[in-house]
Formats: sequence, C-alpha cells, structure tokens
Amino acid sequence: MSAIAFDIPDEIHALCDGLGDFLKAEVMSRHEKHHKLLSNGRYTYDEDGRYTEEVIEIIREVRMAASKAGYYNMCVPEELGGSGLGMLAYYVAWEHTFRTCGPHNWLAVYAISHWAFGPSRLLERVTDEARSEILDGMISGQTSMCFGLSEPGAGSDAAALTTKAVPDGNGWKITGRKIWTTNSPIADYCIIFAQTDPERAAARKGGISAFLVPTNAPGFEVESIIAMHGAVGGNEAQLVFDEIRVEPYQLVGELHDGFKNAVFGVSMGRIYNSARALGLARWSLELALDYAGTRQAFGKPISEYQGVTFPLAESAMELHGAHLMGLNAAKLLDRGDLAIKELSMAKAYAVEVGAKAIDRAIQTHGAMGFTNEVGLAEAYNTVRVVNVADGTGEILRRTIAHRLLKGDTDL
Ligand SMILES: Cc1cc2nc3c(=O)[nH]c(=O)nc-3n(C[C@H](O)[C@H](O)[C@H](O)COP(=O)(O)OP(=O)(O)OC[C@H]3O[C@@H](n4cnc5c(N)ncnc54)[C@H](O)[C@@H]3O)c2cc1C
Repeated sequence: MSAIAFDIPDEIHALCDGLGDFLKAEVMSRHEKHHKLLSNGRYTYDEDGRYTEEVIEIIREVRMAASKAGYYNMCVPEELGGSGLGMLAYYVAWEHTFRTCGPHNWLAVYAISHWAFGPSRLLERVTDEARSEILDGMISGQTSMCFGLSEPGAGSDAAALTTKAVPDGNGWKITGRKIWTTNSPIADYCIIFAQTDPERAAARKGGISAFLVPTNAPGFEVESIIAMHGAVGGNEAQLVFDEIRVEPYQLVGELHDGFKNAVFGVSMGRIYNSARALGLARWSLELALDYAGTRQAFGKPISEYQGVTFPLAESAMELHGAHLMGLNAAKLLDRGDLAIKELSMAKAYAVEVGAKAIDRAIQTHGAMGFTNEVGLAEAYNTVRVVNVADGTGEILRRTIAHRLLKGDTDL
C-alpha cells in the first residue's frame, strides 16, 4: 500500500525497482568488498585530503556501470544521449537511492548523474563543438565535471563574484578563485562563472558569463581540499585560476547572461537535495522504529513509551509533508514552470524536517546513535550541511517572501 496518491508513472516505479537491484549489485557490493578503503578516512584520502587513485577509479567504475545499466543518464535529455525522464523521475529515484543506501554506501551518489558532476540539462547550453568534445565521456561516466560559482567573497550573494574573464583576441583569459567547489578535485571539467562586463555586473544587470573549462587547462589549480566536519579529507576544494585561456566555443549559454545557468543548475540541486534529505531521513526513521521495537528498558521495549514513539510520529508527519512538497515541485518543473517558490519551500522544508527526524532517530538509539557503525550522526551531518548548500534556509525564505510580496500567494 502506498501513502502517496500522487500520480507517479509506472515506468518510474519500475525504474526504482531495477535501480534497487543495481545499487545492491554495484554500490553496496563495492562497499562490502572495499570496506576499509571506503569507510576509513585514513585509507580513503591521500595526505592532502584528496581521494586516493584507487577510490577515484572505483567512483569511475560505479559511474560507468550505472551508465551501462541505463540509470546514470535516465534524466538527461534525449538529445544529449539520455533517456529524458525529467525531474519527477530524478526526485523519486534519488529519494529511493538515499533511503536504500543510507549514509554508509556513499558511492550511491554516482549511480545517477548528479546535475553538477555529470550530464544534465545544463549541457543543453554548451556549444555543438563543446558537446562533441565532452559528451561521449560524460555520458559513459568516464569523465565528470564540477560547478564553480561560489567564491570566498560571494556565497549567498553569488552575483557578487569577482572572478574575471578578460577579452583576449577572440576569446578570454579567466583569473580569480572559487571555493566549496564539490567534485573539483577529481573532475575533468569545470563550469566557471566569471564577470565578462564588470560594469553590468556591478549594476547587477548581467555581465556574468559561464565557461566550460578542462581542469587540466594551463592556469587551473586545485589549491586545497576542504575537509568538512568529521572527515579527514573531502571532495570540496578551493580553486585558483591564473589567466586560463578560453575560446568562444567554451561559452555556456549567452555571453554576459550566464548567471541564468547558475539559477537553472541550482534549481536541479534543490530537487536533488530535497530528495537526499527525505531519503536519508526515512532511512533513519525506519532504523529508529526497528530499534525501538527491540531495545528494552525498565522491562519493556522502549516502543511502549510514548516519550519514544511520539517524536517518531512527529517525524512521520513532517516527512510525509516534505515528500508531497518534493513530488509537487518536481512535477511543476516537468510542466515547464520555474516553481521558484515551491522549490524553495520544498528544499528548505525537507532539509529542516529531515535533520530533525535524524536527530530524533539518534535520540531513540541512545549512545548507539552516535556510533560510526550505525551511521546516524553521519546522516545528520550530510543533511544538516544541505541547509547551507544550494541556498541557505534564510535565502530560501527570502525568495519565498519575495514571491509572496509580488502576489504569488497560491499555496
Ligand atoms: C557541502 C557544500 C558543497 C558546496 N558545493 C558547491 C559547489 O559545488 N559549487 C559552488 O559554487 N558552491 C558550492 N557550495 C557553496 C554554497 O553554495 C554556499 O555555501 C552558499 O551559497 C552559502 O554561501 P556562504 O557559505 O558563503 O554563506 P554566506 O552567504 O556568507 O551566509 C552566511 C549566513 O548569512 C545568511 N545570510 C546571507 N545573506 C542573507 C540575507 N540576505 N538574509 C538573511 N540571511 C542571510 C546565510 O543564510 C548564512 O546563514 C557548497 C557548500 C557546501 C556547504
């Protein structure tokens, strides 16, 4: 029986069944086989915090197996070589993936092409010449990319970026720096956002362009890896650009109007993160329910105490709401709506109630909830950080309030 009366096409349900089998065969089995390498940071990362060559190769293997099995590119437009299933499938499949794999089987993040690391609708905006150069490798999962928008002085206010692309013959030279760029330490390409018309950029009237740049281009440097809480290494990095030469064919979208690509990319990120938060939170709720049924205190299973079960009921109410909001936002995007308000609400809500649900699951587990073995604290960390990535909770509320004040009060 399903709690959701929402119309999800049979092909998406069937796809999730197959995806579940794929995750067992190609993701979970690798985590079992390479347990020490993939679960102990001392082996996962090199001394400088970067994934070791062996880990990078395993990640590539998962991407390529997923591509071969048809899952990696299922939501990539058909004209780019994907199956064109759209955002509802993207949401449902990611939610299913995180709920199935939990935080331990982290290679799952490479089972479906992530909008910023692999092929997505963003590549509809690259030139034909760039497509013919990169598409085969990206679709097969051989190569990957990253999204260089945020800078040390430009986070929530991303349009305040100061990286510059200065005209150089018929092309440009890019100089500047980026921060928090996920996947950049292992990526083959980076979409770099840079000012191409500083006056327009200062006036907030365009003047920013996006370029597709190979990460081995002269002048492109991964300056340092940023280890996030609880990890000894990571996949976020600081990047420095020193006069990287780019040609006109490397432009993504329109000259001076590249910020639209950022908004477009981030909306896919918001759907992904709504699904990720919900999937991990449902995984944690199911774990808490199991534990509450078996853990004894004062001669009874703790599930007999309302002090234990009411918080779990609270989580169920909130996660059900988050689920409906996520499905709705994805469907609006598939209908061609920008769904700015609905997407902001869905992402902020899923991440906030998701983190609360995982926190409650930790509490249900007592001391056990903090162990690496159970993984709840890791799941909490993963979801909590998403209240900053792809738009903070405050920025999403700012966006919602703007829409409301403009008269978009439909709820
Ligand atoms: C794990 C992770 C991965 C990331 N990956 C990428 C990536 O791949 N590519 C990329 O380009 N970026 C990436 N980012 C960066 C991310 O987009 C920024 O962190 C985010 O936009 C917030 O910017 P900031 O961290 O500079 O915070 P700031 O903008 O400095 O904000 C600090 C605080 O002030 C609040 N604030 C700011 N302005 C307002 C306002 N007007 N009203 C109310 N509150 C406000 C914020 O909500 C926040 O609480 C990543 C971040 C994380 C954490």
